[in-house]
Amino acid sequence: MSKKLCKLVKEEYLEDHMDDYLEIIKKPKYVCKKCGRVADSEDRLCKPKKIKD
Ligand SMILES: [Zn+2]
Repeated sequence: MSKKLCKLVKEEYLEDHMDDYLEIIKKPKYVCKKCGRVADSEDRLCKPKKIKD
C-alpha cells in the first residue's frame, strides 16, 4: 500500500481503516509540508519533510 495518506483521507479512508491509519501515524517520522499530515514513511505524503528529534 503506497497511496498517499493525503489522498486516502480525502477518499474517506478513515471511516473504514482507522486501525491502519493509527499504525501509520503512531510514530511519525515525516510531516507533509502541504497538508500537515504525519506518517511513518515519506512515500505516504505528497510533500514529505523529515521530522527532526
Ligand atoms: Zn500532503
